[in-house]
Amino acid sequence: MRFKSLSQLKRPAAAAVVLDSLPQAIRMTTYARAKAFKINELVQSIYGLSYEWYGYTLARRDDPELIRDIGLPENEQNVLEYTSIDPEKIASYQESLAPDCFINGWIHSHGDLDFHVFSATDEENHLTVLDYVTALYKKPIAKKEIVIKDLNLLVVGQFTDQDLKTGSACLITDVPVSQARILETIYGGFCYGIVIGNQGWHQQEIYYKQRAILSGQTTISHNPADLILVDTGQYLGDTELAALTAEVKDKINPITYKLEKLEIL
Ligand SMILES: [Zn+2]
Repeated sequence: MRFKSLSQLKRPAAAAVVLDSLPQAIRMTTYARAKAFKINELVQSIYGLSYEWYGYTLARRDDPELIRDIGLPENEQNVLEYTSIDPEKIASYQESLAPDCFINGWIHSHGDLDFHVFSATDEENHLTVLDYVTALYKKPIAKKEIVIKDLNLLVVGQFTDQDLKTGSACLITDVPVSQARILETIYGGFCYGIVIGNQGWHQQEIYYKQRAILSGQTTISHNPADLILVDTGQYLGDTELAALTAEVKDKINPITYKLEKLEIL
């Protein structure tokens, strides 16, 4: 067989069709933002020091990309410069929530530290939360072609075990076909990460996980993200503030001794 030009020898590029997108910015209600900074204030006023604390950003299952609330789990050990999250803690907090409530990320404070970015420890926490959130919520975001070098096309009832030995994959159809393309679904999910500090500063990142359902190819990436505030009219009233104060007293547990192996920030 003769090729007219070299370009005919090139494999066609894998086709990809975008079906949906993941959030590029973080939408958060003014209520949730106010609550986060109020927790920060309360930690400082109740305990006298700006201990790090962490919480979860909460959404509704029917609108998983909008942060509507901040959930404060039991913080076993609050120190000035360290926060750690593990999957069991996230799972047990999710179980305590109403069925339509959904954890879509996490938030923590750097208090009055002069460190206004995410630390290496924070990155580890991001990945832990990402794994948890994407296990519960992912959506088809693309169909991507699996380029199979030598697809072996067979017909039901018309092949032997010997035929199965050829090709890198077999496609068995009920009628003879001469060519076939296989597109796999790429599922995507995300989790938000927000860090705040005294004087009202905040930084945000979105972590993404994409997984191809057949090839199992998984990619994780992250980007800094803008915060878009959404005013739903909800505000932190006196009754709720009293409840939040009690919650901070109950769930924040400062420890004053130094951790042996201190992983900071
Ligand atoms: Zn941090």
